Amino acid sequence: MLSRAPLPAVEQGWSDGLDRKLWRFLARRAPARRVALAGPCAVASLTFDDVPDSAATVGAPLLERRGVAGTFYVAAEWCGRRDRHWRVAGRSEIRAVARAGHEIGCHTARHVNVQSLGLPELARECDRSRDLLIEICGQDPRHFCYPFGDLGLSQKRYLAGRFATCRSIYESPNLGRIDPALLGAVGLFDAGYDRERLAVLVRRTVEARGWLILYTHDVAAEPTPIGASPRILDEALTLLADHGVPVLTMSDAARHHGLLPRD
Ligand SMILES: [Zn+2]
Repeated sequence: MLSRAPLPAVEQGWSDGLDRKLWRFLARRAPARRVALAGPCAVASLTFDDVPDSAATVGAPLLERRGVAGTFYVAAEWCGRRDRHWRVAGRSEIRAVARAGHEIGCHTARHVNVQSLGLPELARECDRSRDLLIEICGQDPRHFCYPFGDLGLSQKRYLAGRFATCRSIYESPNLGRIDPALLGAVGLFDAGYDRERLAVLVRRTVEARGWLILYTHDVAAEPTPIGASPRILDEALTLLADHGVPVLTMSDAARHHGLLPRD
């Protein structure tokens, strides 16, 4: 794990009731489908959850300077809102991120724990997210990220039919046969950052021709416990470049590994 710091309340939406724990357990173990990663080499994706304004104004340009594009999971109804930790990027900032060539993904419309939703409500949440994101930046999202990392079995099955991939916060590179509705991701946070541990994960991904997905939130010299400084973002990109690992959006990485048709 790159960060062992406790999560702040913003990502503490895990449901702790016994029934909820059971559904989460089943959702993790019952794959919607298993697919072998088929790409000729390892790839990585850099993803940003919630999209605080600093992810859009500092993180995205940093990636652009390095010639790579990221995937930004937006909870569209939160655009422009201020919460305890940061201001969420506004519509114009999200539009600028999309225009610069980055991908926009769905993080529900209201950053809601999908385990708390019945399927009709979940469908409405995804419809609302799609409509807002098309209005904001013209992108119909093909990739989903579970708010709070939480999920249930029926919700995962529904989302598997609706999105090309669903990303979790289960800390693992994606190697061999994977469940596209439950992709692992590794937190890139300054709090507890361990460069050597990241290097080990990159090498494992290279050897297995896998898919390493990194995620973070805000990007600042002094980030929150779930954010990254420009320094470690740069360091991660350098590490990946040194190992010959291309950094691709979720869609491009999914195409690379045969999860989406090549267009
Ligand atoms: Zn989130």
